[in-house]
Amino acid sequence: MLRVDNLINSFGDFKAVDGANLTVKEGEIVAVIGPNGAGKTTLFNLITGHLRPDSGRISFKGEDISGLPPYTICKKGIARSFQLLNIFPRLTVFENVQVAVLSQHNRSLNLFSPARNMLIEETNRILENVGLLDKAHEIAGAFSHGDQKILEIAIALGNEPEFLILDEPTAGMSPEETTATMGLVKRLTVEQGLTLLFCEHDIDIVFSTADRIMVMQQGKTISEGTPDEVRQNEQVQQAYIGGD
Ligand code: ADP
Ligand code: MG
Repeated sequence: MLRVDNLINSFGDFKAVDGANLTVKEGEIVAVIGPNGAGKTTLFNLITGHLRPDSGRISFKGEDISGLPPYTICKKGIARSFQLLNIFPRLTVFENVQVAVLSQHNRSLNLFSPARNMLIEETNRILENVGLLDKAHEIAGAFSHGDQKILEIAIALGNEPEFLILDEPTAGMSPEETTATMGLVKRLTVEQGLTLLFCEHDIDIVFSTADRIMVMQQGKTISEGTPDEVRQNEQVQQAYIGGD
């Protein structure tokens, strides 16, 4: 479904992504791991069009999407959440998700437009799926960090994606919240027939959640395979798991 070939992206002289390779098949859950600064977020930004690659190729369902703008890539069915929260803190939880649903349907939220009453069922269905329906009319900015991260996932789902990218969906969560959130993410992926690409620093979570894992170090893909294959890779053991 997604294929990244020898992707390179520099900030000035520094190559943040320096030969990344990745394959994600339809319906798979794939994790990208690697130490802080390895280039995971930059890779995600390249895939979603928030950055343009210097070279290399990204294809989605057989089509070259390298360098297309984020809006176009989102319309093709790739939605994402951000490592740092990206919600509208002064809107309600419901409105945050409704904005995404509306934009997917080429409408915008305006106090005086009938759009306000549109796509309510769709929005509620998403909130119910992530367990936020009973908090739909709370102000998003007043939410706990954990609930805000879940809201971000709900917003991404509002784009009606086929392919979901989550950048550290459990960052800053307690171990209990982390387990619950990854359980939710896994359930949503299966139930909605999504394909999931995520990164996460908790190795145990990654190995128990992902079908396949890609390991990045200094912008490069150093290993890609099933959890067992990656675990046995000597370079991975030295570079990452062993040193943890
Ligand atoms: P990760 O998500 O794996 O922690 P990032 O992709 O965020 O890593 O960053 C990879 C490297 O690129 C880091 O060294 C980071 O400091 C650098 N970097 C990321 N974004 C920028 C930017 N906009 N300008 C300059 N350097 C950046
Ligand atoms: Mg990151």
